[in-house]
Amino acid sequence: MFFFDAHIDTLSRLLQDSQNLRENQGHVDLAKLRQNKQGAQFFAAFVSPRYYHGQALHRTMEMIDLFWQWMTDYPQDLAFAGSGREAAEIRSGGRMACFLGIEGGEALEGQLFNLRMFYRLGVRLLTLTWNHRNDLASGQGEGLHGGGLSLFGQAVVAEMNRLGMLIDVSHLNEPGFWDVLRLSKSPVLASHSNARALCDHPRNLTDQQIQALADQGGVIGVNFCPYFLKKDQPATVDDVVEQVMYLVNVGGIQCVGLGSDFDGIDQTPLGLEHYGKTMDLADSLMDRGLSADHVEKIMGGNLMRICCTVLN
Ligand SMILES: [Zn+2]
Repeated sequence: MFFFDAHIDTLSRLLQDSQNLRENQGHVDLAKLRQNKQGAQFFAAFVSPRYYHGQALHRTMEMIDLFWQWMTDYPQDLAFAGSGREAAEIRSGGRMACFLGIEGGEALEGQLFNLRMFYRLGVRLLTLTWNHRNDLASGQGEGLHGGGLSLFGQAVVAEMNRLGMLIDVSHLNEPGFWDVLRLSKSPVLASHSNARALCDHPRNLTDQQIQALADQGGVIGVNFCPYFLKKDQPATVDDVVEQVMYLVNVGGIQCVGLGSDFDGIDQTPLGLEHYGKTMDLADSLMDRGLSADHVEKIMGGNLMRICCTVLN
């Protein structure tokens, strides 16, 4: 079964560790990506805090270049997708549709023209914040007192709507989340977040957030990070299934997707040790009594739907 994962950090991981896609020590490599032939993937250019204040744009460009190098180096397997339509064409040709995103509005360095330039370079998703406050908004690390979107953050939301980009609210604090939902004219994505009712962590979404996002046609990618899945460790593939089932119950089948966070997390659930194992999740979901149609939506159909809706 095909899957479409909303968030992996392989670009930043491999750049940081000076390793390559063909062979590396991380969660994702070319052989594992090949197992998701005819699938789709969002590659996040994660801007690490060490590059804030001067190097964020520079570092992001380096990751975008690496993404395009992969498209050039492995044309048999990978192809850039800028829209749902392009992704469908690529998948029907037997290749993986590769979408590009940026994790951290620091990359914009306070300028809307950088957002437009990123779009021209293929970027179709922006996670507005990481865990800290930036020019756009405050990450969940700042708590409720961080406030909502700045004027610049509001302008970014409007420009992303205009361009046809996915606004990603994972990592955002609650006031910022509600501002985005109020302002965005398009459905919104939480690319790698879980339900707070099952695991009380500020990175996770409350029931009200899940329902509001689902009501607007949004999608939530379940994060495999053990510390966002459950309080007591170790976490297993069953805990991912629990998160999926909970989101289905609270937000409905249409809002649930996957956002593994592979290569961005130090530990993984038992049974989901690397990218190649994600396909096994489909069997676990079937075992829980979900229909094949519902499993397909969770594994990637819902994420593909929001890409078709939002990306021009
Ligand atoms: Zn993240």
